[in-house]
Amino acid sequence: MHKLLIRNGSVYSSEFSRFLTKDLLIEDGKISKIGLGLVDSEARLIDASGLIVAPGLIDMHCHAYPLKPLPSNALNPIDPDATCFSSGVTTIVDAGTSGWRDFITFKEQVIEKSAVRILAFLNISCRGMLDLEAENEVDMLNPEIVASYIKSFPELLVGVKTAHYWTTKPFDDLHPMWASVDAALEAGELAGKRVMVDFYPNLPDRTYPDMLKRLRPGDIHTHMYAPQFEIIEKGGTVAPFIWEARERGVLFDVGHGGISFVFRNAVPAVKAGHIPETISSDLYTKNIMGPVFSLLEVMNKFLNIGLSLERVLYNVTAAPAKLIGRPELGVLKVGSPADVTLLAMRHEPCSFIDGGDARLDGDKKLECRLTISGGKIVFNPYGLGCIPWEKAPEEYWTKQCQIMY
Ligand SMILES: [Zn+2]
Repeated sequence: MHKLLIRNGSVYSSEFSRFLTKDLLIEDGKISKIGLGLVDSEARLIDASGLIVAPGLIDMHCHAYPLKPLPSNALNPIDPDATCFSSGVTTIVDAGTSGWRDFITFKEQVIEKSAVRILAFLNISCRGMLDLEAENEVDMLNPEIVASYIKSFPELLVGVKTAHYWTTKPFDDLHPMWASVDAALEAGELAGKRVMVDFYPNLPDRTYPDMLKRLRPGDIHTHMYAPQFEIIEKGGTVAPFIWEARERGVLFDVGHGGISFVFRNAVPAVKAGHIPETISSDLYTKNIMGPVFSLLEVMNKFLNIGLSLERVLYNVTAAPAKLIGRPELGVLKVGSPADVTLLAMRHEPCSFIDGGDARLDGDKKLECRLTISGGKIVFNPYGLGCIPWEKAPEEYWTKQCQIMY
């Protein structure tokens, strides 16, 4: 495999949450050297002056299964390789699109075929989101089987997901109030893994504070700024039950999605310190043209709400890497997989939209300039490291094509 030498970039250190000007040498799919003034005559040089060099971004909440043709009642997923690299994302965590019944097909047809690294939360409902109605049925929940799958594929399955259960109709004997959340917690306990909860209060009986009380330390509530949660009190303070949940170690993920992120909740919450542990997109086909667009766009929303660049980067690198038990993916250090993204910070008037069609005006925006996955350049719209076409002999062009593609 060829070598890449990234020079003079502002390298983000997720361990110390700061930037240092350094060079990075990449060979055999790994970072082999980090230092100042690195030289290697065999390496392709990439001048990263003025750019941020960060670990490949990790999207903690995406949907990447099934393939086409789509079942009629399924969530419409993204194609990870076509979607993620252009925003610097090299790893995604599928948030329960698949249940245990379809996991092997998901693994063989998508996970093992994708250049983007895919890990997954397994849906507590056996049909996952291939049949959104089935997530309402108690006989589709089997914690023992879910736990056994997670134990059998520890390199791919990072936890259990519960979502979309009995959100509006009255509860009855066939649909107990907490059936899905409790089954997911039981599976999480049996497998020794986290649970990620997508939740809709069914009032007056099933409330958001009561759901948070059920979660264990380390479990994750995704869609934390969705409009169905009354987290902001009069005067702009955050409701006490949120701080109580945080005190107990409950974690919060953005999971922007089509309708699960509103500035009305996010802006005052961030200002009051109710900040996500992980920033994620919840990308599927229907929100990719807005309001989500990409993980990078979601990160830009948080930058313009007022979160620091260091914190935003931490929330899409080291933070998710630790939560999924793959800490080597969230740092740039010698021996780590060479998943790297080069970002430019543009200072210019810009605007962003949320899931309620409301707008936030801002003045800064990250743009992805280059993505490297496993030591290979996979996105390079500005031609970094390329020579001007007038100076490129034909054999050079052919060779570069072979290297890149
Ligand atoms: Zn989702």
